[in-house]
Amino acid sequence: MNPVDTLSLPLTEHKIVKAKPKIKLTPSEKRVLKYFPDATEIDWEDWRWQLRHRIKTKDVIAQMMSLTPQEERGIGGAGGKLTMSIPPYFASLIDPEDPQCVIRLQSVPLDNELEVAPEEMKDPCGEDKNSPVHGLVHRYPDRVLFLVNEMCAMYCRYCTRSRMVGDGKRTLSTATYEAAFDYIRSHREIRDVLISGGDPLTLADSLLEYIIKNLKAIKHVEFVRIGSRIPVTLPQRVTSELVAMLKKYSPIWMSIHFNHAKEITERVKYACNLIADHGIPMGSQTVLLKGINDDPATMKQLMHELLKIRVRPYYIYQCDPILGSRHFRTPISVGINIMKNLRGFTTGYAVPTFVIDAPGGGGKVPLSPNYIVSQDDDKVVLKNFAGDEYTYYNPD
Ligand SMILES: *Cc1c(COP(=O)(O)O)cnc(C)c1O
Ligand code: SF4
Repeated sequence: MNPVDTLSLPLTEHKIVKAKPKIKLTPSEKRVLKYFPDATEIDWEDWRWQLRHRIKTKDVIAQMMSLTPQEERGIGGAGGKLTMSIPPYFASLIDPEDPQCVIRLQSVPLDNELEVAPEEMKDPCGEDKNSPVHGLVHRYPDRVLFLVNEMCAMYCRYCTRSRMVGDGKRTLSTATYEAAFDYIRSHREIRDVLISGGDPLTLADSLLEYIIKNLKAIKHVEFVRIGSRIPVTLPQRVTSELVAMLKKYSPIWMSIHFNHAKEITERVKYACNLIADHGIPMGSQTVLLKGINDDPATMKQLMHELLKIRVRPYYIYQCDPILGSRHFRTPISVGINIMKNLRGFTTGYAVPTFVIDAPGGGGKVPLSPNYIVSQDDDKVVLKNFAGDEYTYYNPD
C-alpha cells in the first residue's frame, strides 16, 4: 500500500488488529522458549502465560546464563527483600554472555542490594505519610496517585516502592477500591488521577475497567492516567481488547517507564503503535541508573527512539535512595550534564524534565543546568546551549 492510501484510511480504523500479532519470534526469544519444553509460540504471545512463567529462582535462570558470584549471592540472599521476577520475554533481551548487559542489571539482583547505605530509606518519597486512605497518595493540590495493586511483571532492582510491591497482592479488596473512590468523590479539588501500583496492567481488563469507569464517573475528575512498565517488560499485555476498552474512557494518558533504547524491540513498537492509534497519548519516565543510561549519548538515543514510537519524553528521575540502591545511584551532576547535552542539541520534544523526588516526601523538584549568568532589576544575562552570552532588558 502506498503512503497516500494509508493516510486516506480513517484514523481510528487503520492498524486496529483483532488477530494475534504476527510478530515473529527473534532467535533469542526462541532460545528462551526452549527452556519451557511444554510451551509453544502461541503461549509466548499470551501475556498470562508470560506472567505465570516469570523467572523467579536461581536454578531456572542459571540454565539461561552463567551467573557471576555477585548475582549468585544477590539472588540467593534476597531473603525478605524484593523478589526476582522476570517474564520470559524480558529475559530473552538479556545478553547471557555479558554481566553488564543493561537489561540484566535492571532485573537480576546483585549482592550489592544487601548493603544498606546510611542515607537510604524504606519509603524514600514519603508516600505512606501522605496517604489519607489505603492506596491513595495525595500530595499535590489537584491530583492523586492511586496505587491499585502491589504486583508488577518484572521487579526493577532499584524500585522506589520495594516496600510494597511483590507477589502478595495482585488486586486490592473491593472495599479498599470503594474507599478510594469515596475519598476522591469527596475532594472536589482532584481533577487528575494517576493510576499506578505495582503495575495496573497486571490486572485483568475487567478489573481495570471497573477502576477507570468509577473514576471517570466522578464529575470533577477531568482525566485519568495510567503509569506502567508493562509495555516494556511484557508488551504482549497490550492487546487490541485492552486498548479498545481504554479508548472508551478517553481522555486517558499513559506514562511508560523506559530506561534504555535496547528495550524498544519490535514487540514494544507494536504495542506503542496500538496505544497511540487508540488515541492514548504516551509519556516516558526514565530512572537515571549508573552503568545503564548515565551518559548523554545513551540517553539521547533513548529519547530519539521514544519519539519514533510516539512516546513524548516526560521525566528523567534521579534514582531514589531506596534500601540497597547505592550501586545504581549517580551524583546529581551526571543528570544535569545529560540535560545540558540535550537542550539545544536535539529536538525540544526529545528533552524531558530531570527531577528529584525530594527525600522524605517533598515531591518532585526540577533540576536544570543554570542558563542565567546574572540578573538585576534591569536585565538578565543569559547563556545559551552553546555557551554564548546574551542580554535581555526587562521592561520598566
Ligand atoms: C509524580 C506524582 C504525581 C504526578 O506528578 P506530575 O508531575 O503531575 O506527573 C502525583 N502524585 C504523586 C504522589 C507523585 O509522586
Ligand atoms: S515497574 Fe515500577 S513499581 Fe514495579 S518494580 Fe519496577 S519501578 Fe517498582
